[in-house]
Amino acid sequence: MLRALLVTILLASSVAPAAAAPWTWPIGEHRIDRPFDPPDSEYGAGHRGVDIPGRAGQTVRAVAVGRVTFAGRVAGVWTITIEHGGERSTYQPVSPAVRVGDAVTAGQPIGRLLGGHPSCRRTCLNLGRLRGDEYLDPADLLATAGSYRLIDPDGSPPEPPGAGTGDLPLDGPVTSAFGMRVHPVTGARKLHDGVDIGAACGTPVPAAGAGRVGRAEPSGAYGLQVQVEHGGGIATSYAHLGSVAVHRGQQVVAGDVVGRVGSTGFSTGCHLHFMRLVDGHPVDPLGER
Ligand SMILES: [Zn+2]
Repeated sequence: MLRALLVTILLASSVAPAAAAPWTWPIGEHRIDRPFDPPDSEYGAGHRGVDIPGRAGQTVRAVAVGRVTFAGRVAGVWTITIEHGGERSTYQPVSPAVRVGDAVTAGQPIGRLLGGHPSCRRTCLNLGRLRGDEYLDPADLLATAGSYRLIDPDGSPPEPPGAGTGDLPLDGPVTSAFGMRVHPVTGARKLHDGVDIGAACGTPVPAAGAGRVGRAEPSGAYGLQVQVEHGGGIATSYAHLGSVAVHRGQQVVAGDVVGRVGSTGFSTGCHLHFMRLVDGHPVDPLGER
């Protein structure tokens, strides 16, 4: 009986065309801001792939089981390509956390979303789907996952991203909130002037917004620290970094990697101490604006 069933399954799978499996959404947003609009010619204008809105630093996940065939820059844009057996998915602009040859499962983190994809107003992921050299519409596979919708230009605006962690540069767990606390190293009761985000040492830290680097140097208890001035008296700061990737005076856009998570200064382990400053005074990055 079992044997007969097995044979039936094997026959069925060898006869049926290899229907592409549905894709899981690569980032938290289940929404397409700009649909697929392939160019008429190979080098023509058009929109290969779809744009999915996201936040800089957000974890990007593989849409299906496969193997990484590319992880590097294409014309200066960080790109990951995953082979799924006949079809490939591409992800831009994404700082890779995987290497060529890595096997991945559906939903597995493969990197972090960077800013700067030119066709979207804010940060977004350009997700592509290829069979050979032919571009296909990723939405056909995402649609079957059930939660796909296009934004209706005449309809009501989409819901904003969930309140709370929406403005943090990394989407790791908040291990210590802003506010009064007993300091884990000194034991003193004082203001914890930022939000601690748990992340492995070496994790790329993206700028939360565009601005100019005002500081990129060791700074006492903060360890190696980068501060970005966004204008209007607003600044963000990234502390306990293991390394910095920018220099003072440099202009950055949201998603540019400013450094990597570390444990320098007064720190008990790898994490990012993220601060938001208004006129030089720390405010709760997760608080009201
Ligand atoms: Zn902290």
